[in-house]
Amino acid sequence: METKTDNQKRLDDIKALLNLNEREVELLSKPIQTKKADISLNGKKYPAWRVIYNNTLGPGKGGIRFHEDVSESEVQSLAFWMTLKTSLLNLPYGGAKGGIKINPKGLDEKELEALSRGYIQAFHEFLGDNKDIPAPDVYTNSQVMAWMLDEFEKINNFHQPGMITGKPIELGGLEIRKDATAQGAYYVANQVINNFLSKKNKVKVVIQGFGNAGAYLAKKLNHNNCLVIAISDSQGGVYNEEGLDVEELIEFKQNGNSLKDYTKAENIENDHLLTLETDILALAALEDQITEENAKDVKANYILELANGPVNYLADKILEENNILVIPDVLTNAGGVVASYFEWGQNKVGQILDNNYLENLLEKKMNNSWEEVFNYYNSFNSKISLRQAAYMIAIKRILKAEKWRGRI
Ligand code: NAD
Repeated sequence: METKTDNQKRLDDIKALLNLNEREVELLSKPIQTKKADISLNGKKYPAWRVIYNNTLGPGKGGIRFHEDVSESEVQSLAFWMTLKTSLLNLPYGGAKGGIKINPKGLDEKELEALSRGYIQAFHEFLGDNKDIPAPDVYTNSQVMAWMLDEFEKINNFHQPGMITGKPIELGGLEIRKDATAQGAYYVANQVINNFLSKKNKVKVVIQGFGNAGAYLAKKLNHNNCLVIAISDSQGGVYNEEGLDVEELIEFKQNGNSLKDYTKAENIENDHLLTLETDILALAALEDQITEENAKDVKANYILELANGPVNYLADKILEENNILVIPDVLTNAGGVVASYFEWGQNKVGQILDNNYLENLLEKKMNNSWEEVFNYYNSFNSKISLRQAAYMIAIKRILKAEKWRGRI
């Protein structure tokens, strides 16, 4: 018998909670479209995918990842989470994702460009501002988006900046997009602090991952009655119970150093960092960091998921038993897709909006979603998790749209 994935198990739980029928479950259980191609580079072929999980609320939306661990099932899981995230944030999008199974670290600029253009040559007929709109993800950035846009426009012989988001500003991108994920997570962190930790003199924070999402969150929280006591990157971490000098660490890292070589704080292994005593543990690195193996050792009171899927299904249950509240990825890291939505809207209308206005809108959207999830969670007297509350809200919205369309 095939073992169930974590997403299938989570859907089973929602099926029971929402009393879903078989047709509804079937619609949510698999992607509506999985396209696969091989991208050629230097005489070798690299498998690539573009998946639309569901598009009842609007065109597909989701990043493209270049990573050696990319697989069809990973892309499908990520597309499922995008489906829930866009619905939860009330955006007019479905959920999608893409990726190429390749280690991009050894590639030079020309090779990266060829790979990016190759992806569009393979999948262009399935993409477009009303079909499916990619964005950056792990190891893709605004330059990759620029090459992809250029290739798409060359093939089609017209301009369509809204076919991709996370672009450079000169090609229709937004100033606020780069930091939007961490900014959104910062609003969520403030909600946690205001709702649960307001009596604390200093809120202790531990952050796993010191890249785009983690570093910017550390910087923001450092100014907010918080004490960032430990941070890690892929090589290891640093720890100081009295608080780290975040600005100095960001500069240290920007100069090409690994955190483990920083000498003004104690070194700490990644495994140990996850089990430190802290108020907030922010996971901003990879999937599957808290599992049934280490969940029982976690001593944080609140976990913020900036990464996608950093806490697995069994770990969720253990953390719940230990009264550790997990603020789920589909809410915590949604700032990026909200900013992408602003970018797409601007591109489609041809209007350029003020940054302050967009920043306020992002804050409002994140806080509204937090309130929706938190109130729903409270209405069950804490008998469901925040993740389940978020999934239930998102799924109800998707199923309502499916019903209007006559598919159920
Ligand atoms: P990034 O590549 O900029 O940073 C990742 C960081 O994690 C790096 O500092 C890396 O050294 C560190 N890391 C890797 N393995 C680690 C390990 N085992 N232990 C500790 N640290 C480790 O990526 P990012 O953009 O900051 O994204 C981080 C996560 O957030 C990813 O899971 C991504 O999917 C998710 N996310 C990012 C965005 C976004 O807009 N940036 C949006 C939604 C979700």
